[in-house]
Amino acid sequence: MRIADMLGRSKPTISFEFMAPRDESEVEVLERTVATLAGHAPDWVSVTYRVRTGEKTLELVTRIKRHYHIEAMAHLTCANSADRTRQILNWMEREGVANVLALRGDPPISGEPFTPVDPQLTHGSDLVSLVRRSGYRFGIGAACSAEKHPESPDVEHEFRYMKLKVEAGADFLITQLFFDNRFYFNLVSRARAAGIGVPIVPGLMPVPSRRSLGVMTAMSGATVPAELQSAIDNAADDDAVRALGVQHCIAQCAELIEARVPGLHFYTFNRARAPIEILAALRGQQLLAS
Ligand code: FAD
Repeated sequence: MRIADMLGRSKPTISFEFMAPRDESEVEVLERTVATLAGHAPDWVSVTYRVRTGEKTLELVTRIKRHYHIEAMAHLTCANSADRTRQILNWMEREGVANVLALRGDPPISGEPFTPVDPQLTHGSDLVSLVRRSGYRFGIGAACSAEKHPESPDVEHEFRYMKLKVEAGADFLITQLFFDNRFYFNLVSRARAAGIGVPIVPGLMPVPSRRSLGVMTAMSGATVPAELQSAIDNAADDDAVRALGVQHCIAQCAELIEARVPGLHFYTFNRARAPIEILAALRGQQLLAS
C-alpha cells in the first residue's frame, strides 16, 4: 500500500526507521528490535540504505513485508549510477516493494563533501525525478529539514529544494530530526502558503546518549533547546540522559498529535525501548488509540 494514502487518514500513522545492518555483529540486535517493534502495530516502517549494504536493505524490507505483514519502505540514495539505480528499482518492483524514500544520501565519510557517482544524480530531487519519470508505480517519499541542513547557506535555500522534490513527484516528505516543534510548525505553514500540499511527517529522535546526540546534531543540523541541553549536561549518566530524551520526545509527540500531524516517524537506531515507552505514554494519555 502507498504510504501517502495512509497519511491521509484521520489518525496519525506510527512508523519506525530501522538501520540496515553494517555487518553480522549488528544483525541480532536488529532482528530482536524489528520483532519487538512489529508487536507494537506500526502502520509502516522504513529501512536505511548505504551503498555497501544495499542488498541488506532490500532483504530486510521484503522480509518485514512478508513475515510481519507491515508495509516497509526502502530508502535509496544517489550512491549509484542511474543504470544501477534502475536495476535496483526493477528488483524492488518485482519483489513487491510499494514505497521508496528517494534521498541524496550521507557522504560515505562523515564530514567530507558528498561526491556524486553520476552527474544525473547529484541531489535528492534528481532521484525523485528518475523514479517518477521512469514509470515505476512506487509511492515516493523524500527528506526535508525543519531546520537548516548543515550544507545549506540558509533556510530559503533548503525550502526551494524541498519544493523541487515535490514538483519532481514526491508524494510525501519526512523531516530530519528536530527537538523544537516550532521549526516543524513553521515549515508546514510556509509549505502550505507556497502551495505544497503533500503530507509532511515529523521525524523524531528520542536522545539515546550524549555521544549520539553530538553525532546526530552535527550530521542533521538540528539544534537542542537550551533547557533540554542544560538538563542533559547535568544528568548523572547515560541512563538519565535517555530518560530525559524519552520525556522530551513524549512532550513533542503530544503537541504534534494535538496539531493533527499526518504521522510520527521514529528514528529508532535499532533500539526498541524508547519508542515503546513513548507510545505507552501517549496511549496512556489517550492521545493514541490502544
Ligand atoms: P538533497 O535534497 O540533495 O539536499 C542536500 C543539500 O543540497 C541541502 O543543503 C539542499 O538544500 C541542497 N540541494 C538540494 N537540491 C539542490 C539542487 N538542485 N541544487 C543545489 N543544492 C541543492 N542518508 C543515507 O545515506 N541513507 C539513508 O537511508 C538515509 N535516510 C534518511 C531518512 C530521512 C527521513 C532523512 C531526513 C535523512 C536520511 N538520510 C539518509 C540522510 C540524508 O541523506 C542527508 O540528510 C543528506 O545530507 C540529505 O539528503 P536529501 O535527500 O535531503 O538531499
